[in-house]
Amino acid sequence: MSDIETQLSEIQGKVAAAAKSRGDVQLVAVSKTFPSADIRVAYDKGQRIFGESRLQEAETKIQELPPEIEWHFIGRVQRNKVRKILPLFPYIHAVDSMKLAGYMDGVAKDLGLKPKIFLQVNQAGEESKGGFSESELASNLGELSALQNVEIVGLMVIPPAEKSDEETRLWFRKLKDLRDSINAGNLLSLPFLSMGMSGDYEIAIEEGATHVRVGSAIFGKREKKIEGELG
Ligand SMILES: *Cc1c(COP(=O)(O)O)cnc(C)c1O
Repeated sequence: MSDIETQLSEIQGKVAAAAKSRGDVQLVAVSKTFPSADIRVAYDKGQRIFGESRLQEAETKIQELPPEIEWHFIGRVQRNKVRKILPLFPYIHAVDSMKLAGYMDGVAKDLGLKPKIFLQVNQAGEESKGGFSESELASNLGELSALQNVEIVGLMVIPPAEKSDEETRLWFRKLKDLRDSINAGNLLSLPFLSMGMSGDYEIAIEEGATHVRVGSAIFGKREKKIEGELG
């Protein structure tokens, strides 16, 4: 087996075991910067959900690969790309402001689409990252719940990097608590939590992730950091 096959199988096994013991967990295989040939290897191993963070790169791959793939846009969404992103990506992981959510809703209406979106939360208040603070989210819940053309399915976080596992766990727990408190109100109902990457997806699963976004642990080390990448 190739490295990709071996690494993917191991991670698929862990995700499936978690899904069995406590319900739905999806592996989003983050293929940004990796060629279509690598994605094909993972596809042939049964992987159907892939994450990309740059539109132009993804457009080429989407054309080359089977239509059965469910593409998730995980990167920062630039407003001027929304019209092209929505038809290709049924899931958008990083809707980071009320303004963007509202704009996306309008474009989705024009296109006759209903994308599933996650709201990115920046509970740590990191300047370098986008996302709703807890208080922004609280004050926008009414407006968010009124959007008719996007389906808000969950929250997403990229916790501060280079912290200990225990600190990372606390960020995941904090996101889940926030999701639970939103669900306890009657404005939004959010089934999903998008959290956990190569270094911490197992912790994220323990803390309730429904979508883990794993790239380098499957495909190997990325050569370059790319524009549009978060975190
Ligand atoms: C690149 C990226 C990932 C995957 O990162 P790895 O460390 O390679 O697993 C997950 N989420 C987002 C938002 C990313 O940009």
